[in-house]
Amino acid sequence: MFDVVGTLVEPCPSVARAYRDTGRAHGIEIDEEAIRVAFRAAWQRQEAIDAAATPAHATDRRRERERWQGIVADVFGPVAALPAIFADLWDHFADPRAWRPVGRGVDLVAAARGAGLEIALASNFDERLLAIAPAVAPLDAASHVFASSELGWRKPALEFFRAVERRLGRRPDELILVGDDPRLDLAAAHRAGWHARLVDG
Ligand SMILES: [Mg+2]
Repeated sequence: MFDVVGTLVEPCPSVARAYRDTGRAHGIEIDEEAIRVAFRAAWQRQEAIDAAATPAHATDRRRERERWQGIVADVFGPVAALPAIFADLWDHFADPRAWRPVGRGVDLVAAARGAGLEIALASNFDERLLAIAPAVAPLDAASHVFASSELGWRKPALEFFRAVERRLGRRPDELILVGDDPRLDLAAAHRAGWHARLVDG
């Protein structure tokens, strides 16, 4: 089982560049460093909302869309073009061409295939991943794609891992998650009784 963003693929251009260019197309000028700082804080704010919810880290398509609306609003502020900027960014990151393979991830997937392992994706990305996965290497090697909005849970929820086990008919100790996040991938998978390996983020 592989995490997706930061482990197997990364945005290209970067998130900050994509936000800058999209803002610019709507007459809003923010430099990339300011976007990076604002994005990080906005991302953490949404993570905190999920952690404080009851049940924690439950999600669906509406919540994932709301998350990204919140992040885009935090980055750009209350500008009139906000709905249009959000719509463009949503579509941008839904496009397979906005993503490129991470070399190390390509090697890991090749090694897993060579060892005869079944490969799946376990991601906090939403349903947009379902269209991206078949179109971007090495995601296209996966026989199953588990996206948060479709499972109903985000990592690090224990329920995320249990839902994957049920769908695959596997025990926790038959599964290994490879990811780039110490908390969402390594610690959460271990807590679920899975094997786990961290790659450098
Ligand atoms: Mg990741």
